[in-house]
Amino acid sequence: MNQIAQHLLQVKERIVQAAKQAGRGADHIQLLAVSKTKPLEAIQAAYGAGQRRFGESYAQEAALKIDTLRAQADYADIEWHFIGPLQSNKSRLVAERFDWVQSVDRDKLIERLNNQRPAGLPALNVCLQINISGESSKSGTSEQEIFRLAALVAQSERLVLRGLMAIPEHTSDEVVLATQMRRMQALFTELARQYPSVDTLSMGMTEDLEPAIAHGSTMVRVGTAIFGARDYA
Ligand SMILES: *Cc1c(COP(=O)(O)O)cnc(C)c1O
Repeated sequence: MNQIAQHLLQVKERIVQAAKQAGRGADHIQLLAVSKTKPLEAIQAAYGAGQRRFGESYAQEAALKIDTLRAQADYADIEWHFIGPLQSNKSRLVAERFDWVQSVDRDKLIERLNNQRPAGLPALNVCLQINISGESSKSGTSEQEIFRLAALVAQSERLVLRGLMAIPEHTSDEVVLATQMRRMQALFTELARQYPSVDTLSMGMTEDLEPAIAHGSTMVRVGTAIFGARDYA
């Protein structure tokens, strides 16, 4: 078995254990393999091991990878998630290729993605990114804006509101982390109560997937633990 396949098994085992600890079913937690900066061969190895959901953060790099893999019929069933900060002038690249955008955080992006989503494709799945730590280095909207932006997405014919995404603070302080994750869980619960299409709380990465699962995450986004360290970003 190749190393990526082995790493995938280890990550799935972490998910199973964390779910068990939290008294949840592991089948309620999806694994998004974050392949940003990694070569096509890495994606192909993970695909060969059964992985079908992939996350990318850089619009141009991702467009090239997706177009190359789509040209090979074998990879047609990959579900692509855009998870990085999205400049408005790159929105078309994303609207034309991805199945999900998890990093939606402003009116203009909602409007552009809705206008640019091709008619021949299913509606684009959208998560609102919340800057739950309030750090100025992080993208995402504020907690106060969530319900207004959610209403805009819900009114957009070519978009489907699926939930919330967050990158909690990178900290060894478990109380700070748990506080931020608990707030995300509460916001997600309220949003799901208001919108039947909402089923996704995207939270948890290599370093914090266990507490994220303890706080209701339904999708963990894992890069390093599957593909190894990145040279950049
Ligand atoms: C890079 C990235 C990840 C994966 O992070 P790892 O620590 O490598 O698991 C998850 N989410 C987002 C939004 C990212 O940009």
